[in-house]
Amino acid sequence: MAATMQAVVCNAPHQIAVEPRPVGIVGADQVQLRLCRAGICGTDYHIYSGQHPFLNYPRVIGHELSGVIETAPEGSGWTVGQLVAVNPYIACGDCHACNIGKPNCCMKIAVLGVHRDGGMAELLNLPVRNLIRADGLTADQAASVEFLAIGAHAVRRGGVAPNARVLVVGAGPIGIGAALFARIAGGQVTIIDRDRDRLALVAAATSITEVMQADEHIAATLADATSGDGFDVVFDATGNQASMEASFAHVGHGGVLVLVGLLKARISFDDPEFHRREMSLLASRNATQTDFDHVISAIRDGQVDVGRLITHRTTLRQVATDLPRWAADKTGLIKAMVGFD
Ligand SMILES: [Zn+2]
Ligand SMILES: [Zn+2]
Repeated sequence: MAATMQAVVCNAPHQIAVEPRPVGIVGADQVQLRLCRAGICGTDYHIYSGQHPFLNYPRVIGHELSGVIETAPEGSGWTVGQLVAVNPYIACGDCHACNIGKPNCCMKIAVLGVHRDGGMAELLNLPVRNLIRADGLTADQAASVEFLAIGAHAVRRGGVAPNARVLVVGAGPIGIGAALFARIAGGQVTIIDRDRDRLALVAAATSITEVMQADEHIAATLADATSGDGFDVVFDATGNQASMEASFAHVGHGGVLVLVGLLKARISFDDPEFHRREMSLLASRNATQTDFDHVISAIRDGQVDVGRLITHRTTLRQVATDLPRWAADKTGLIKAMVGFD
């Protein structure tokens, strides 16, 4: 009989269970990880709620992962027992995007826990090139690298310069990552969100005190806050159509709008306003090794305190009960972490 492990499986919308699954054979260029932590992401809540548009069920969820190496190929440079973070973006390695150094937007990308089974499980077989060195990090910190790297990548895309005026729209974990790395880049960061309680939570967790509630007067409030100039770089991390369309107006002349959150629909904007500003509009997708390395050194240097972002914890035994609760109510929740110990 094939070896089995316990895994968190979404069998259909609103049906999540911890079930035995086959471990699988470790391929020639693969390692086997024994998982330590898995962060629960907006994507996981969407898969559970049936809001993920292209997902095939059943699916083992989980892509924000840390683990220790259980088996590694001879001469791979990886050691059994070593703690690693996981790059969950499986790129093909030979499409145009991969050839120009952008595996984060590989034309055939497969994301663990989305397009193929993920790592919210006891064991995971993974290509060697998807391991990220996490020496000196804790298991919690290593499992937080991926969601923070999405923000770090967006900040690199946006070209945040020292003293740049930066606006982050949306105070979820991705927006928080963008805000933290914009501050590390030297930007003066303001965060807006519709939820006042969330802003208070995020201000306390990040020490970013320029937070404003996105009410019906927000455009005027932001214009006043910048003496009418607008922001040099605006990150929209909402994935919300009305917010994304409104974000164009917050960008100053010569500024940049980075759409980090994804919307499965069209958005529109006023071309004269766009041209008048000579605005740059960018998408930001996933992250690359450069971003993972940047995040790891920022955590190691104490510039990002992951402990303040992890507000909730659960276990492999409890996650099928806790995840549905948190999908429905995120009061006080920034990041929930599943422990496998
Ligand atoms: Zn995620
Ligand atoms: Zn590719």
